[in-house]
Amino acid sequence: MRLVMYNDWRVGVVEGETIYDITTLVPGWSPEWPQNFMVRFIAAFDELRPRIAEALATAPSLALAKARLLAPLLYPTKILAAPVNYRAHQAEMGQVYQGQTLHTIAEYGVFLKPSSSLTGPGSTVRIPFPDRRTDHEGELGLIIGKTAKNVRREEALDYVFGYTCVMDMTVRGGEDRTWRKGFDTFTPIGPWIVTADEIPDPDHLDLKLWVNDELRQNSNTSYLIYDVARIIELASTHQTLYPGDLISTGTPEGVGPIRPGDRVRLVVERVGELVVDVAEA
Ligand code: MN
Repeated sequence: MRLVMYNDWRVGVVEGETIYDITTLVPGWSPEWPQNFMVRFIAAFDELRPRIAEALATAPSLALAKARLLAPLLYPTKILAAPVNYRAHQAEMGQVYQGQTLHTIAEYGVFLKPSSSLTGPGSTVRIPFPDRRTDHEGELGLIIGKTAKNVRREEALDYVFGYTCVMDMTVRGGEDRTWRKGFDTFTPIGPWIVTADEIPDPDHLDLKLWVNDELRQNSNTSYLIYDVARIIELASTHQTLYPGDLISTGTPEGVGPIRPGDRVRLVVERVGELVVDVAEA
């Protein structure tokens, strides 16, 4: 199932080229504080699932092409992200940060990005310092479905609600990661959340990213140093993971600068295609 948020914070299921509006199934639906609908929806999903199937038969629909898609998730309790989690990316960052020892997720653990940095498909990434190098990092993101603490890797995939494409935009430099990666618009996600049942093996997905017509990143999640299950194991030993929490799994090699006027396109196999534009802040 592909879940979107669109127009004025409606929640929809995408089938083919059509969106079915299932907003009123979201518990506590109200137009006054709509942004966290998807988190509530995810938390209640096991109970809602049979009702979704029923609702689709009579739900109002519209053409996907006519909808304005939004970030499919807003206001998770946290966004966690993996620092270096591909060997080839570790090597290329060694060239950027010469003289520094670059560690991986094994040494650094995971870091936080602010929820306020989330944005959606078709949005514009605003670069705060055009004179500094700002990079795209195309990544597979996973969304937690059930409260998780001290989860072992063997069971970790049971806690995944679904997957989405993530761009972890990054200013290069010496500041803390949360600062360099935490600007508004620096975490585009989407175009939808694909539920986990459609992706039984998240560790063998092609990942490609283009800037304009140039293919910059071309890898596969099979090269992850910590695979999806192990990232969840690691993160959940440190903090409780809640429904709706987003974890970005790290970027492969090929990161490079983005500039105002660029269009960035990320395709993760079986998950979808996420496109954003770049402008000055
Ligand atoms: Mn990253």
